[in-house]
Amino acid sequence: MTDRITGSGTDPFGDNDVANIAIIGSGPSGCYIADMLAKKVPGAQVDIYDRLPTPFGLVRAGVAPDHQGTKNIVRQFERAFQRDNVRFVGNVQIGTDISYQELKDNYDIVAITTGASQDRNLGIPGQELTGVYGSGAFAAWYNGHPDQVDLNPQLNGKGIAIIGNGNVALDIARILAKTTEEMDTADITAEALNTIASSPVEDIYLIGRRGPLEASFTNMELSELAGLKRCVTLANADQIPTEIPEGFDPMAARTAEANLETLRGYAGNDQQDKPVRLHILFCASPTEILATDGSVSGLRLEKNTLVDGRAVSSGETVDLDVQTVISAIGYHSTPIEGVPFDEERGILRNEDGMIETGVYTAGWCKRGPQGVIPANRADAMAVGKRIIADLDANPATGEKTGFAATSALLDTRNVRTVSYEDWQKINQAEIDRTEGDKPREKFNRVEEMLALLD
Ligand code: NAP
Repeated sequence: MTDRITGSGTDPFGDNDVANIAIIGSGPSGCYIADMLAKKVPGAQVDIYDRLPTPFGLVRAGVAPDHQGTKNIVRQFERAFQRDNVRFVGNVQIGTDISYQELKDNYDIVAITTGASQDRNLGIPGQELTGVYGSGAFAAWYNGHPDQVDLNPQLNGKGIAIIGNGNVALDIARILAKTTEEMDTADITAEALNTIASSPVEDIYLIGRRGPLEASFTNMELSELAGLKRCVTLANADQIPTEIPEGFDPMAARTAEANLETLRGYAGNDQQDKPVRLHILFCASPTEILATDGSVSGLRLEKNTLVDGRAVSSGETVDLDVQTVISAIGYHSTPIEGVPFDEERGILRNEDGMIETGVYTAGWCKRGPQGVIPANRADAMAVGKRIIADLDANPATGEKTGFAATSALLDTRNVRTVSYEDWQKINQAEIDRTEGDKPREKFNRVEEMLALLD
C-alpha cells in the first residue's frame, strides 16, 4: 500500500526531521522569515497565519496606494507562498480563534510578525472629537483595510492638519492633495477616492514639532510634493537652516542636505498658483484640538525653539483654522494574550528577537515602527538565522504536528480558514472588477471576500 502524503506537517518519511513552523502575520517581516526558513531548514513546513483573508500586511494596506512600485515587492512574496512547504492560513485571529498556548503546543517554532497597527495617542484635549484620526486608521481606510471600512472620515472643511514629520505624514498629505487623475493607477478604494475628490480642502498643514534637520522624511518622498497638479507646497524660508551644523550625524547628513534643498524650493513657490496649498510648518507642537458643536474647528499650536535638537516651548500659541486633524506620530503593537508586552515601548517583550524558547518575533512588533521594507528584511533575516541556529542546537522532535492539530481545533470552532488558492480567487475577483487603469478594486469587508469562496 502507498501512503498518501497530505501536507499536514507530519513527517511523511518518519525520520523525525520535520520542523513545524508557524509565522503569525503575513506582512513583509513574516514573508521574509517564512521564505528563509522554508529554504534553509531541512524538513521545514512553514504555515503563515493572518487574521485577514488577504496576505501581505502593510504592503497591501499600509504602503501608499499610489506607490505601486513599492507594492511590487509582493511578486517576491508570492514566490514564497508557492513553495511546496509554505502554507497560507488566512482569516485566523491568534488570541481569539486559537490561543498562543495552543500554537506553542502544536508548533516547534512560532514567529510573531504582527507589526504595529495601533495609532499612538496624541495625548491632547480634543483628540476624541469627530474629525480627528490616527494615520494608521486613515491610511487603512483609503487602502481598503476591513478594520476601517466604516471610518467615514470627515473631510468636509477647507483646512486639514497633519501632525508629524515622517514619511507617513507625507503619504497622507500627498494622497489628500492629488487629483483623481493623478490617482488613476493607484489601488485606493473607490469610496476613498470619491470622498477625497469631493472635499473642499484648500489648505493642508504638515506640522513638525522640531525643525527640518530633525524631520524623518526621506528625500524622494519630500520631493514628490513638488509635482502635484492642483496643489502648491509652501515652506517658510526663515525656518530652513542655511547649512548642516557641525557634529551632525554623518549618516543622516546626505538626506538632510537634500531635504533642505527641496524645502528651499518650496519656500520660493508662489502661493497663488494652485487651488490647494500644502504648508510645511516646523517647530510647532499641537496642544489642543478646538471644537464647535462637537466637531473640530481648529488646532492650537505652541511655537517651539530648538535646543540641541530638542523642542522647547516658547509659550507663544497660534490657532489654525482646520476641520480635520490627522496625527501621523507613530504606532504601537497590539498585545496578544499570553505574550509578554512592553507597555512603554508598545512592542512584544523580546531579547534580540526571542520571546521565549521556541518563540520569536521580528519587524515592527519586535523593535517599534521604524524602517522601510529593506530594513525589515534585514531584521527578519537576522531573526531567521537565530531560529536556524536554535533548531540546529535543538532539533524538532517530530512530536508536534503543526497544521494537522491546529486545523482540527479550528474546525471544531467553525473557523473558515482561507488558503493561498482561496486568496488567489479573491485577488482575481478584485482585478476583474476594476475599471480603467487601477490595478484592482479591493474588497474591504471580510464577508464579501468569504462570499467569493463558497
Ligand atoms: P516616523 O518617521 O517615526 O515619524 C513620526 C513623526 O511623528 C516624527 O516627526 C515625530 O517627531 C512625530 N511625533 C511623535 N510624537 C509626536 C507628538 N506627540 N507630537 C508631535 N509630533 C510627534 O514614523 P512614520 O512617519 O509613522 O513612519 C514609520 C516608518 O515607516 C518610518 O521608518 C518611515 O520611513 C516608514 N515609511 C516609509 C515610507 C516610504 O518609504 N515611502 C512611507 C511610509 C512610512 P520627533 O522626531 O520630534 O519625535
